Amino acid sequence: MDLFEYQAREIFQQYGIAVPDAETVDSAGDARHVAEDLGGRVVVKAQVKTGGRGKAGGVELAADPAAAELTARRILGMDIKGHTVRKVMLAQPVDIEAEFYVSYVLDRAAGRFLAIASAEGGMDIEEVAATRPEAVARIPVDPAEGVTDDKAAEIAAAAGLPPAAAPVLRKLWTVLTEEDALLVEVNPLVRTATGDVLALDGKITLDDNARFRQARWGDDLSSHEDPLEAAAAEKGLNYVRLDGEVGIIGNGAGLVMSTLDVVAGCGARPANFLDIGGGASAQVMADVLSVVLADPGVESVLVNVFGGITACDAVADGIVTALETVRLTKPLVVRLDGNNAARGRAILHDRAHPLVQQATTMDGAARQAAALATRAASPAATSPATAR
Ligand code: GDP
Ligand code: MN
Repeated sequence: MDLFEYQAREIFQQYGIAVPDAETVDSAGDARHVAEDLGGRVVVKAQVKTGGRGKAGGVELAADPAAAELTARRILGMDIKGHTVRKVMLAQPVDIEAEFYVSYVLDRAAGRFLAIASAEGGMDIEEVAATRPEAVARIPVDPAEGVTDDKAAEIAAAAGLPPAAAPVLRKLWTVLTEEDALLVEVNPLVRTATGDVLALDGKITLDDNARFRQARWGDDLSSHEDPLEAAAAEKGLNYVRLDGEVGIIGNGAGLVMSTLDVVAGCGARPANFLDIGGGASAQVMADVLSVVLADPGVESVLVNVFGGITACDAVADGIVTALETVRLTKPLVVRLDGNNAARGRAILHDRAHPLVQQATTMDGAARQAAALATRAASPAATSPATAR
């Protein structure tokens, strides 16, 4: 789960990392009042969980409270890379002398963390890394050893950061471990004209697996920005929304992941995926079908189940009963294999729903679902394909 900049800022502050004075609001009128409190001149910053806000016009200096109100009015509601701005942070402007980049990121393959730091921070670290890789220091961090004073000094020196950045590197490591984060990033970390080192922008990605021991994450740190994901989570479903056209339902994370790959291999894009785990009751099937079909991008749905403890006839029964309450609006391709597959297929066959078709193999099912989705998505062949 990614945090907003204003949430990252609050956490940095708690760990003693210097940040500019700031407050976050959701209306232009409030922006004016906060600007007055902050001394008039403020930086107005869009709060969205994506980078590049500066380039997109989501970060702007306002000279006085009236300008802050106007700027906030312009930025609120703005779309930045598909994210709607609902809040703006107003920050006291800082006199920047130098901008640096620092982050810790989990290196899964190496089983450790990586400190990435550069004296050329600011807007586009990816570009610096691509064009001048020597300007970006990458130092492995052993999670068992952590970032000691020496390690922090090593990272700062390798990146050409001033020694005053080292304490920030140490505190950032504490943020990462204490908050169960997978990523902490500060870009820019700045040195001001007075020699102070401040975190001017922050990104934190928390490890969702640690939610159980991070009680304080609570409701205000909801991981579900997407309304469909939120609705699915409320029903206790593991649902992830993507942006393709084939809805994918399966049992077990491994099977669901490989189904995504096979669908992609058939030239279609997954619209979402949902893992029913061991559940196959009519209620679960009704819930998953309604969640998947509620996504306007979905043109076909693929149910891929390998029956184990959950037998295929139970899944088929669940689908048939679910179809009494859920109106199927898109074609559904079902592949049942494993425990009681024959009985499950017979149940669906007998139901003979015009929009439900079956396949016996995963590849075949994916091909059918992909063909149905791409046919529906291309305007050339709308009429015969929609016959019922
Ligand atoms: P991002 O584009 O989403 O990464 O947003 P940032 O918060 O990093 O802001 C982009 C850029 O705006 C920074 O690299 C700074 O150059 C500039 N900026 C942000 N806040 C301030 C500030 O308080 N004072 C000044 N002078 N520049 C700022
Ligand atoms: Mn930034």
